Amino acid sequence: MAHVVILGAGTGGMPAAYEMKAALGSAHEVTLISANDYFQFVPSNPWVGVGWKERDDVSFPIKPYVERKGIHFIAQRADRIDAEANQIDLADGSKVHYDYLFITTGPKLAFENVPGSDPHEGQVQSVCTLDHAEEAYKAYQDLLREPGPIVMGAMAGASCFGPAYEYALIVASDLKKRGLRDKIPSMTFVTSEPFLGHLGIQGVGDSQTILSRGLKEEGFEAYTNCKVTKVEDNKMYVTQVNDKGETVKEMVLPFKFSMMIPAFKGVPAVAGVEGLCNPGGFVLVDEYQRSKKYRNIFAAGIAIAIPPVEQTPVPTGAPKTGYMIESMVAAAVHNIKADLEGKTGNQTMGTWNAVCFADMGDRGAAFVALPQLKPRTVDWFAEGRWVHLAKVAFEKYFIRKMKIGVSEPFYEKVLFKMLGITRLKDEGQRKAS
Ligand SMILES: Cc1cc2nc3c(=O)[nH]c(=O)nc-3n(C[C@H](O)[C@H](O)[C@H](O)COP(=O)(O)OP(=O)(O)OC[C@H]3O[C@@H](n4cnc5c(N)ncnc54)[C@H](O)[C@@H]3O)c2cc1C
Repeated sequence: MAHVVILGAGTGGMPAAYEMKAALGSAHEVTLISANDYFQFVPSNPWVGVGWKERDDVSFPIKPYVERKGIHFIAQRADRIDAEANQIDLADGSKVHYDYLFITTGPKLAFENVPGSDPHEGQVQSVCTLDHAEEAYKAYQDLLREPGPIVMGAMAGASCFGPAYEYALIVASDLKKRGLRDKIPSMTFVTSEPFLGHLGIQGVGDSQTILSRGLKEEGFEAYTNCKVTKVEDNKMYVTQVNDKGETVKEMVLPFKFSMMIPAFKGVPAVAGVEGLCNPGGFVLVDEYQRSKKYRNIFAAGIAIAIPPVEQTPVPTGAPKTGYMIESMVAAAVHNIKADLEGKTGNQTMGTWNAVCFADMGDRGAAFVALPQLKPRTVDWFAEGRWVHLAKVAFEKYFIRKMKIGVSEPFYEKVLFKMLGITRLKDEGQRKAS
């Protein structure tokens, strides 16, 4: 009997545990290990950050649900992985041996890149975790009591730009609903992207026009090609460069309320494994989601290394979104099972396509980029109230799916059919990092 350990119970790890158990049955043991004892639906965090949703709406305890399916659960942070000994050291001092390790640990939020930007210091907020989103809501309530300037956006090296636009536009929409929009003296959007709507993937469909217009209509003044160098006394120090990377403007933006998406790195326990990761701490995998160095380690989601789509004047990264993660998880589960059955020739690849819904308060924007790299077969971006409603429905659908313990492929089975997109193979576009 082999022991398969899934490390990290987020958007990738929870479905991975269910899929792995369903694939392996009682012949092998599946253990899910995660730093938190609860699952959080990360895409809903921007709503928590304005009080539209609460913790219990978007999270639930993992243990009772996964154990019903025969999956062992350990709520501990992994502090070290000894890949030669196939062993994980947990924060409580215990050790777990594995035959296969499937890493889905998501991002370490690299606040250290910009002095003063860590939410713990109380100046700049984040919505990347549920805890952060709750803190953001507290700070937002201070803004409602005592209005002042707002600065939103994404730091240099960020790869997840959708939530920056989402949160900026949700806050603007909430302020309007409360009749407080006119009390805000200025709203500024600062991003490392070379143009608005670039999203780390050179834009998709009409994303530039739609997102530029969305920010303008809500009264945001937007600056691209920006690098925030430090935050001090509620002032953001920003350097803007031109396409050659030469400084064209230095700005000091005072703010009362700010949320900036940070750069992501790999989590320390994973980044610390000799030869496993790139310098950012992301796992180097082949097209089968398998570590290039350790044949019994697989990885999916934000934890893996994907090269940037292009070099931008201020560094940006490529996003790793839900569809890609779903596809990577399905491939890794298939490949671990094939290994266990000795069918080493029967390996599948995930697809690295970008599909995302971004809520904009009373409406939303959706994009589909198949494949993520240009030229694309599908390059589609649309906005409307239906996206807002679809995102609300998706949250309910995903959380229900994670509670009942099935892991049906949402994007291929539901969304693509809804959009009239047939399955597209883009294996040729996959590139080793
Ligand atoms: C605010 C926000 C909104 C987003 N919205 C969308 C969206 O609408 N659509 C979309 O497609 N994508 C969206 N994304 C991008 C992406 O889909 C999510 O970030 C997704 O949660 C990534 O999944 P993951 O499994 O890689 O990581 P995560 O979901 O972050 O899960 C990582 C898990 O690993 C655990 N972990 C970390 N370190 C350790 C350790 N050392 N030991 C044990 N456990 C550990 C964490 O506690 C967590 O449970 C969004 C991202 C953010 C930040």
